[in-house]
Formats: sequence, C-alpha cells, structure tokens
Amino acid sequence: MHHIEFDTKWTMVVDLDKCTGCGACMVSCQAENNIAPMEEGSNKLKTLTWLLVYELNNGKDFPERETAYLPRPCMQCGKPACVPVCPVVATTKDEEGGIVSQIYPRCIGCRYCMAACPYHARYFGWLDPVWPEGMDKALSPSTSTRPRGVVEKCNFCHTRLLNARTRARAEGMDPKNLPDGWYKPACLEACPTGAISFGDSKNPEHKVHDLIKDKNAFRLLESIGMDPQVYYISRRDWVREQSDNHLPNDKH
Ligand code: SF4
Ligand code: SF4
Repeated sequence: MHHIEFDTKWTMVVDLDKCTGCGACMVSCQAENNIAPMEEGSNKLKTLTWLLVYELNNGKDFPERETAYLPRPCMQCGKPACVPVCPVVATTKDEEGGIVSQIYPRCIGCRYCMAACPYHARYFGWLDPVWPEGMDKALSPSTSTRPRGVVEKCNFCHTRLLNARTRARAEGMDPKNLPDGWYKPACLEACPTGAISFGDSKNPEHKVHDLIKDKNAFRLLESIGMDPQVYYISRRDWVREQSDNHLPNDKH
C-alpha cells in the first residue's frame, strides 16, 4: 500500500521508563471496548487483547538483569500491511487522523489481515462473547460488541474521537482541530504513572508533536517501513535496541 499523509495524525507515545507493567491499560481497554472476559483467557491463541503488555529483559543474569514493559496497541500504520490484503474492504485507513478502522459487519473472518500484520495486533473471535451475570450491565454503550468469527483490534478508542468532535461542535469550535487532551484513549486515562501520551503529532500545540522528536524516541520494526503512529521512548540503550529487533551486527 502506498504511503498516505493526512493533515491530522493521531499519535501515541509511550514512555517505557515510566511503565511498570501493571496492566491497568489492558484492563481499561477490555472494559472500554466490551471485550468479554474468557475462561480461556490464558490461551494466547484464543484470547482477545487489543492492547498487550510485553515483558522485555536485557538478557543478563542477576544482579545485572533489568526488565522493561512494552504496551502494544495497533500501530495504526501509515502504510498498513493489513489493509490491502482484505478481500472485502473491511479495514481501511481513515483520512481524518490515520486510524485503521475495522468494519465488523463486512469482515468474513478470512484472517488475511492477521497474517499480514507484523505487530500481531489483530485478533480473531473464536468464541461468542459471554459476560458473567451482572457484568453485562457494565457494558460500554458507545462501543459495539462483536460476534465470533470476525477480526478485531485497537482503534485508538475511536468513539472517544467522535465524542470529542461532538463536544467541539456543541461549543462552536472546529471539530477537526481539537485542543490537546480532548481526545484520550482509555488506556491513557487508566495509566497510574502517566506513561502514555496521545494527540495529533502534526499539531504544534499538542504535546506529542515534540515528544516524537525526542532523541530517545523510536518505533517498533522501523526497518520494515510500516510508519507506525505509535512511538516509544526509553533512555536505556538496551530497550531501544531490543525493541527494534536489532541483530548483533545489524546496522540497518
Ligand atoms: S479477516 Fe476480515 S478484515 Fe481481515 S482480511 Fe479477512 S475479511 Fe478483511
Ligand atoms: S499494526 Fe497491524 S493491524 Fe495495525 S495498522 Fe499496522 S498492519 Fe494493520
């Protein structure tokens, strides 16, 4: 797929030196996006985790061993591998901010997109979603539930973008030029250490505009050219190197 640039670029920046791996972001993502808890949740092939926290280590033994945690949502790639392979146009790159959408009623569950995604960010619903008695009352009213048999993934809590735009319209403001902080994904709000920043990286008034230029900022698998809209920051060399899947003699 050719690269497309838009006026707005919704961008997430995660400071890995602040992330403690607590998993609050994963839980809030599940709640916000109506992902049912599963008995088989520990089965990595069947569970749905739109946001997954990976554990990294520096490969050394105690006492030199260091650990880091890396939350991985969908990267909303600028050049998404998942979009051109879909035979029914069930996933698209949104021209107003670059979020990669997933259109559940169109998806036929072929899973080509899952095979194409190098970040393992897509999930197939093997099971019907079932909520424990009483918990169904806590379903988020703004996010649709999905049947089994379709693929789903993080969409930067897209309904929150729609809500922020509605608020801007109501206040007589331009819904396409939201102030910093008006549109925040659920994971950001839940993070107790403030490790996640979010905004329009093309807008100089948004914090992420400068954050992505930090000398310690990097993206995952930069070398394969997917142009992700998710950035990471770490002041630790081993984290930056490992997260980009460097091989010992790999100079890129
Ligand atoms: S699983 Fe669904 S979204 Fe993915 S390629 Fe097939 S039809 Fe498209
Ligand atoms: S991370 Fe995977 S699912 Fe998300 S846009 Fe990129 S290729 Fe598609």
